[in-house]
Amino acid sequence: MKVLVINSGSSSIKFQLLEMEGEHVMATGLVERIGEKFGRISGSMHPGSADQTAIEKEVMIPDHKSGMEMVGNVLCDEQSGVVRSRREIGLVGHRVVHGGEVFHQPTVIDTTVIEAIKENIPLAPLHNPANLDGIEVAMELFPAIAQVAVFDTAFHQTIPQRAHIYALPYELYERHRVRRYGFHGTSHKFVAGECSRLMGRELSETNLITIHLGNGCSMSAVEQGRSIDTSLGMTPLEGLVMGTRSGDVDPAIHSFLERAAGMNLTQIDAMLNKDSGLKGICGFNDMRDIHAAVAEGDERARLALEVQTYRNKKYIGAYMAVLGRVDALVFTAGIGENDPLVRQKTLAGLDHLGVELDYEKNSRRFTSPGTLHTGGSRVQIWVIPTNEELAIARESLSVLEDENH
Ligand code: ADP
Repeated sequence: MKVLVINSGSSSIKFQLLEMEGEHVMATGLVERIGEKFGRISGSMHPGSADQTAIEKEVMIPDHKSGMEMVGNVLCDEQSGVVRSRREIGLVGHRVVHGGEVFHQPTVIDTTVIEAIKENIPLAPLHNPANLDGIEVAMELFPAIAQVAVFDTAFHQTIPQRAHIYALPYELYERHRVRRYGFHGTSHKFVAGECSRLMGRELSETNLITIHLGNGCSMSAVEQGRSIDTSLGMTPLEGLVMGTRSGDVDPAIHSFLERAAGMNLTQIDAMLNKDSGLKGICGFNDMRDIHAAVAEGDERARLALEVQTYRNKKYIGAYMAVLGRVDALVFTAGIGENDPLVRQKTLAGLDHLGVELDYEKNSRRFTSPGTLHTGGSRVQIWVIPTNEELAIARESLSVLEDENH
């Protein structure tokens, strides 16, 4: 079956068409700058094969509907397309950021599901409306095809109360659903599954710490295939130090800044999300720029690297305590897959906990899964490239198969 994966943002639509037999990518691309003066669609048909064709077009794209129409048209284009008609597509899988407490699983979309996603808008005011736009437009353009929502939060719904309730007045949870939800769930679940498979073990018998380090960063304690704790919280701000997001800070900093710097909550919120993290400390949010700056003797860039990797290590320690036995650590996403120094600094000094890094194996980038541990390491260390599109496609398909049984 061919599955179209859609990740709809406020001004963009990322798409990928996968043939699930053999799990290969037939087409991949991005519609961007929707609603702006000059929009753009770019991508690749039959990527990685001899027939690979690049597409690129600059054209005004007034709304998501016309953006999605363009996706349908490039896929079906007589010359460069990969399918003859939209009817060849069997399923559309949508990434949805916030499923709240309602969605523990990917779910076939109907009007009730749309209503429930709408009800979760207060929890993700920037993301869920954009995801919904993508869903509604895709349902209009592909009316005969099942649509499945795959939620970033769903994998973390197994986290027990002791780890997801904040020590705040309990009414805030009851009235406003203030609690830890966690994000990047599709990625954590995917690399956990791949890791146990590659280790030749049952996921239900394996304890893992999954470490997603990209622009956004998060870590999860995965016990026997179930997420039991994660670092991102009610919003994608808590936990690790990210590109522009602070991660954990003392919550009293808010009122201090109001008094001392005259900042209001909107300004503080924007600062914590957009001007903090690595960028806040040293001015660069891309790890490659940070390495370049460190090489030129930039002390702040060095400090940003130290602060991020120290926080990573602290969370690994916490999750080792939470899990008891840990079989493997798994690095993934842009930094996790590509950055030997971040991995090395994150794991430095964990030998006494059974985590022994092989520096030689660690010294490269990974485009396919590999290990980093020494022969004597009690805990295995893996790098497994994440593949959220494939994960969404697999999950969407499995939901449909379950429904049909
Ligand atoms: P997103 O969270 O946006 O999906 P990615 O997983 O693509 O992010 O990760 C983006 C980050 O990965 C960049 O900010 C950059 O710091 C890092 N990155 C990508 N390539 C490399 C590389 N070769 N070396 C070091 N860091 C890299």
